[in-house]
Amino acid sequence: MKKRICIIGSGTAGLQLAYALKEDFLVTVVHSNTAENIRNGRVLSTQVHFGPTREREARFHMPKWKESDPLKSIHITIGTQKLFTGMLKEDALSVDQRLYFSECMDDLNSKGVTFQQGKVNYAFAESLVNEYDLVIDCTGKSGPLYSFPIEKDISPFDVPQRKCIVGYFEGIESNVPLGVNVTVLPEIGEMFEIPAITERGPATILFIMAVPNRELDTFKGIKDQDPFTEQMHKSVETFFPDIHKRLDKKKFALTDENAFLQVAIRPEIRKPYLIINDMLVLGCGDSVFLNDPITGQGCNLSSYCAEQLYETLVDFKHEKWDEQLGNTYWKRVKTYVQEVTEWTNAMTQPLPEHVVQMLLSGVGNQEQADAIAEWFANPKTAHEAFFQKTRN
Ligand SMILES: Cc1cc2nc3c(=O)[nH]c(=O)nc-3n(C[C@H](O)[C@H](O)[C@H](O)COP(=O)(O)OP(=O)(O)OC[C@H]3O[C@@H](n4cnc5c(N)ncnc54)[C@H](O)[C@@H]3O)c2cc1C
Repeated sequence: MKKRICIIGSGTAGLQLAYALKEDFLVTVVHSNTAENIRNGRVLSTQVHFGPTREREARFHMPKWKESDPLKSIHITIGTQKLFTGMLKEDALSVDQRLYFSECMDDLNSKGVTFQQGKVNYAFAESLVNEYDLVIDCTGKSGPLYSFPIEKDISPFDVPQRKCIVGYFEGIESNVPLGVNVTVLPEIGEMFEIPAITERGPATILFIMAVPNRELDTFKGIKDQDPFTEQMHKSVETFFPDIHKRLDKKKFALTDENAFLQVAIRPEIRKPYLIINDMLVLGCGDSVFLNDPITGQGCNLSSYCAEQLYETLVDFKHEKWDEQLGNTYWKRVKTYVQEVTEWTNAMTQPLPEHVVQMLLSGVGNQEQADAIAEWFANPKTAHEAFFQKTRN
């Protein structure tokens, strides 16, 4: 008999796990929102799925997206000085999670995965543990539902380091070659401009990461579409002249009334396994590995950990699912989680001088520029660069 697995949450981690696990196990996804509501609801995030994540999506036969406009590069600007455009080894893609999640849910439903709608509370969470061979908490940043222990040495912050201000817009001409445009304004924050695929066609995400109470932190109390758009326009005009040059004021508008978001994340890393009532419970994705979005790693880390968890469960398919399995999963992902986390936490602080020098050395040196672009696709290399294990 196939073992029964309950995944709580239908986001990046939960959906990839459902695709990966559905052949070997009986999978139920308990989720708080219907595919239809997600599709028509508020934007959830920004996202860039880099090459390794896209390979995993292909491995698990996840939906394919129209490839007309893949992301090929990372543009880096400090202040108002454009430094370089680094080329990615493999194309990346950013699909609005409203579209991505709802398509995956409908597709999985048609492929035999059971979906059960309901917001899980703590009592329900405990009852699920007794009902299934395994529960995996994929509740994202609003989780976890189970008290996975915090890894204090890699969870240094008591408060969020940035305010995240996101809008999906029309009316901005894309940067060439198409890619993610990163602007760092030392001490006050960053802007990520990300070309994205949405239900309504191509859009440009403008994602401000504002250091709290500094000059970019100007969206406080804004709850409506028009003042949000107006404030974004002002911020772009004041701080991001390169984007402003490509912005057509007449066409500049949110893609839809739900296409904006404000949130702040307090990063926290937890050990992703627990025994409750003699049963193993696991965590995957932001519920246990929650980082600031500044390095754009959340989806990619969730996808990496989902694949490692899949491999672990398949290895233990005919064995007892106990603490040893949890520990094996944690050992498999820990180094990667730690590297992404340390790099990400470092990016929220003033950049170390040797990193500034590396960025400057990307000017006129395409090989170095490409290596820096690759930090985002292969964060191990970023960790090495930041923490000087190897010198470029
Ligand atoms: C502003 C912002 C920008 C970001 N930008 C990037 C980026 O550029 N690149 C990148 O890789 N990552 C980015 N991230 C991070 C990325 O979105 C997350 O890391 C990723 O989606 C995590 O996947 P997850 O499955 O753990 O959580 P989610 O994708 O958030 O999914 C969690 C799911 O659980 C459901 N859920 C929660 N609680 C319950 C409950 N009690 N009962 C039932 N269901 C529940 C939710 O409805 C949701 O469907 C960003 C995040 C934010 C906030």
